[in-house]
Amino acid sequence: MINRREFITRGVAAASALAIPGLLAAQTARGSRKAAESAANPAPGKSPVIKLNNGVEMPTLGFGTYRAFEATATSVDTALRAGYRLVDTAAFYGNEEQVGEGIRRSGVQRAELFVTTKLWMADYGQEQTIRAFDVSLKKLGLDYIDLYLLHYPAPRHFDDTVAAYHAAEKLLAEGKIRAIGVSNFSAEHLRRLAQQASTTPAVNQIEIHPYFIQRELRAANAALGIVTQAWSPIGGIFINHPKNGNGIIHLLRDPKIAALAERYGKTTAQIVLRWHIQNGVATIPKSVQADRIQSNLEVFDFELTPADMVSMDAIDRGLRGGTDPEIFDMDYMRARQQAAAKS
Ligand code: NDP
Repeated sequence: MINRREFITRGVAAASALAIPGLLAAQTARGSRKAAESAANPAPGKSPVIKLNNGVEMPTLGFGTYRAFEATATSVDTALRAGYRLVDTAAFYGNEEQVGEGIRRSGVQRAELFVTTKLWMADYGQEQTIRAFDVSLKKLGLDYIDLYLLHYPAPRHFDDTVAAYHAAEKLLAEGKIRAIGVSNFSAEHLRRLAQQASTTPAVNQIEIHPYFIQRELRAANAALGIVTQAWSPIGGIFINHPKNGNGIIHLLRDPKIAALAERYGKTTAQIVLRWHIQNGVATIPKSVQADRIQSNLEVFDFELTPADMVSMDAIDRGLRGGTDPEIFDMDYMRARQQAAAKS
């Protein structure tokens, strides 16, 4: 784990960036303490926790909610009752109200929960971010967020990205967020952020599954003390957004994964989730089906052998299911929407 100063110097040793860290460190520590006082580290869920670079503990395995649609509240409720303690949502998913509803229905105490939400690119910028954060809080019905992520890097609008991050740092210092992080950032985006930010992101949430294992980016995150969290950990992206003409790809029907599942007496999803855990990658599988919600959490009672870990790595096809973050920004989104409207 590295500290904030090393994050800056490992990026680019910008003298101007080094002038203010003392002040920001004090603010950050005060902010984290304030939130931490009202939120003891989440307790007895079924997932172990991992310590983030600011000391906050995060469950290694949490619950995803993208495209859970009208089943969102029920599935969040089911997941929390099953023993999940981390719920992942985003302003972009349009389901923060339902996530809040599911949390309330479950009856699990707020202090036991770890809630992640994300800032959408349309709201990047200093003031816009503060406003968008308040909207998310209100929709969730919460008074603090455990982890606030910038959803995408927006490389061609990086000043706005940095302004959004600075606003998140302010919210962290005020104790409204317990940890801040990023999503879909490459090593280069992290380097650019380090030139202007004072707080090392606690988490980089990126697409990882056995067809896209992202070994180098995981290593880059680790070198900076950033926890890697996998989205679409069991290949959901290939079902949500079938790639041009390739149709739906069922990662969980891969014969090599199926063979391992057979041998270990586990489901293919459990084999894949266990592979993430043993790689030190946190993960957030989504399901709206009670039996899958339950079984996806039961991955802490077995271990893949080193040889089987190697054979899992060998399944990699370098196959990204989501859009390359290097080209994904609001302009790209609008162009894509216009093209879809014309066709
Ligand atoms: P996942 O890899 O979690 O896969 C979800 C899909 O797998 C659904 O179709 C689900 O269907 C199915 N499924 C779940 N469990 C099983 C099982 N045991 N056996 C067979 N099929 C199963 O994909 P997601 O894309 O949802 O990613 C997880 C989370 O990551 C999201 O929900 C979201 O919170 C986050 N995310 C973040 C992104 C980012 O840019 N930061 C981008 C995309 C996702 P069913 O529901 O019917 O069980």
